[in-house]
Parts: sequence; structure tokens; C-alpha cells
Amino acid sequence: MIGRRCRKAAPLLWACAEGGDAALDTSMDTMMKHCMLCPRECGADRTAGAFGVCRAPDRVILARAAQHFWEEPCISGQAGSGAVFFSGCSLGCVFCQNAEISGSYRLSASGLPEREAVRPEGRQAQAGSEGRQEQVSFQGNQEQAAFQGNQEQASFQGNQEQASFQGRQAQAGFAKKPAQALPEGKLPGIEVSEEELAGIFLRLQNREGANNINLVTATHYIPQTAHALSIAREKGLRIPVIYNSGGYEKESSLRMLEGLVDVYLPDFKYMSSETAAAYSHAPDYPETAKLAIAEMIRQTGAVSFCSGDGTQLIRKGVIVRHLLLPGHVNEAKEIISWLHSTYGNAICLSIMNQYTPMPRVREHPLLGRKTTRREYERLLDYAVGIGVEHGYMQEGGTAKASFIPSWNGEGVR
Ligand code: SF4
Repeated sequence: MIGRRCRKAAPLLWACAEGGDAALDTSMDTMMKHCMLCPRECGADRTAGAFGVCRAPDRVILARAAQHFWEEPCISGQAGSGAVFFSGCSLGCVFCQNAEISGSYRLSASGLPEREAVRPEGRQAQAGSEGRQEQVSFQGNQEQAAFQGNQEQASFQGNQEQASFQGRQAQAGFAKKPAQALPEGKLPGIEVSEEELAGIFLRLQNREGANNINLVTATHYIPQTAHALSIAREKGLRIPVIYNSGGYEKESSLRMLEGLVDVYLPDFKYMSSETAAAYSHAPDYPETAKLAIAEMIRQTGAVSFCSGDGTQLIRKGVIVRHLLLPGHVNEAKEIISWLHSTYGNAICLSIMNQYTPMPRVREHPLLGRKTTRREYERLLDYAVGIGVEHGYMQEGGTAKASFIPSWNGEGVR
């Protein structure tokens, strides 16, 4: 067991207990000087302008902080989830649906993913014009869609289709506020202090009526986010906090969130090290994700729901998502099988079919296409067949780039 967090300390401090991770036995500044927060363990000095695989500086950069209606019904509810999208990503999948803000890997001419590694020489040497083009490539697409409809938790039973996500009419319109231009070499988005981040959480609760705070890909900002959550809790944040991630997490870093996060929403992307290496340069992903999910469940306990918002909303627990990749049904079955045999109904599964081929993988023999209806049905039939009862599925036309939000900084300032 490691550390207990001193909630009022600023900079945030952790006390170290026996056997703890030395990287956490230290101040925020020290953690940022030699960053070991995620499984990449780059050791980048983020205070000096160096960056690791995540490309994140020492201060939090947000791409968007607004109501979001596209999550599982127990998260979005009627009022929406207060989604806070963090820029940068330590996993960086080649097929990333949010590549504009994650800075994810790109496929090289050989078909393998490539990405810049740690660049100690500093930010100015980071992304060039290519990155900037990617940043703006989806701007102007204001079409937004939402999954809503049946707001009850769905079950997989027999071969009956019990939709939990149902397509809704496209809705227009986030503010057409342009993204704040940041200096060349930095991630797209807007830099915020921990106090400002706490203020955003409170605004989403108090003014926008969000059902929860949904932290999307905050892995590389865990200490700052934990501090901001502590500030916000002291100022009256009471709605559940959801930690929404790719599942590539260190247990020791997750422990900084203990008592601050109510619901974990990790992906479980790959069961094969080869697939994880090919698509995310992370052959250790399967074992790392298994340990991370175990730590998440240790913190939250079994999944539980409450009434609110006229719907059934998640209150505590873990929902594990799996996005079915084209041509990967067998690997997906292994994932569903492992999750179900290990955790049964203590967790909820969300089996997703919304994979959308992004421009950078259009030429890839598998990733260049959508998943087929038949592939998805095979996976759902398998889940039902092995007895999965707590879960969500998707239906309708979900594999569209138009479901991806506009990264225009909405709600950050
Ligand atoms: S959070 Fe970023 S800088 Fe830190 S270890 Fe991970 S990839 Fe490297």
C-alpha cells in the first residue's frame, strides 16, 4: 500500500508507506521533474519543457469541458455528463478517435506505428505543421449526436437486442468559439491551473446540472487532477466523479485518486501483446490493464446505481469498455471472457461498435474499415452465451466521425 494524500497541501504531497512507489513519495514539482506517472515511465522533466509520450507539460491542458450526452445511459442520463477532455495521451493508439487532442501515433510507411519519444530538448522541437493540420481537421463540423433514449441499464439476455444506446437526432451546435492558439509545439487546448480546474468541476455541477464529472484521459495529469478534485470537494462538489481512461494505468498513480473518484470507466483494448504493440506501441498493455482494473475495483467495490434525473445513474463501481476493432472478434471474445470470468456481475461491460476509421489508418488492411454488423453480433452473441448480464451495447449508426466532439475549448474559459 502506498500513500495517503494530504488534501489541503499545495503543492500536493503524499506520505509514503512501506513498499510504496518512490515516484509518489514526493511533491508535485518533483513528480513533474522526473515523470513516472504512467506505464511509459519516460522520466521526462515536464517542468523544463521536455515531454514524454503523452506530450503533456507540467500544467493541465484541456480541450473541452461541457455537457456530453454520448456516454452509457447511466452516465449521461437526461441532464448529461460533465465531460472534461484532457489534451495529450500516454497510450496513443494509431486509430485514436480523438487524435486531434491526443497526439496519437501515426502509421509509418512500413505499416507500423511511429511516434516521437521523449524530447528533452524541449517543446519548441515538438509537433510541426503536420500536427497543426490535424488539430484543425475536424473544426467546423458542428453536427453533434447523442445516445439517449432508453435510460435504464440494459442487460444482455438471450439473443434479444436490448439497446442501451439508441441513436438520437443529430443536434447542432456548440459555441463556435475558436480554439485558443497555443505556441507551436504545445498540445492543442487551453492551459488551466488546478484552482481553475476545480472551478470548472463546480460550474459543471452548479450551473449546468451535470450528473457527474467525467474526466476523459487524465492519466498524465493525475496529481493535478487529484488536487483539483480535493479543492472542488471542499467547495461543495458532491456529484460522482468518473475517471474515463484507456486502461493503461499504473496502480500506484491510481492510488492518488482513492476517495476522490467514484466510478472508473476504463477501456480494455487488447488481450494480445502483439496487437497492443502494433496499434499502441504498448506490448505490456494486457497485463498492465488487468492490474489497473483490479486496483479500480478495489477502490470502488461492485457497481451500484441510484435514481436521479428520472433515470438510473451510476453511483459507484467500474464499467469496462471494449471497442470492437475490425477483424478482431476473437481477441474481443477473449477480453469479454476474461472480464466475465474474473469479475462477473461486480462490473458492468460496455461492448462498443462505434469504431470509425480515421484518415491516418484508411490504408490499413484491418483498421481501414468499420466493424461489420456480423462481427458485432458475433461478439454480442458470445457475451450472451457465456452469461454476461450486466452490460451495454450500441445500435444504430455509431461509426461516424460526426460523433466526435468539436475540440474548440468550449467550457474551459
Ligand atoms: S505521463 Fe507522460 S511524461 Fe509521464 S511517464 Fe507517462 S508518457 Fe511519460
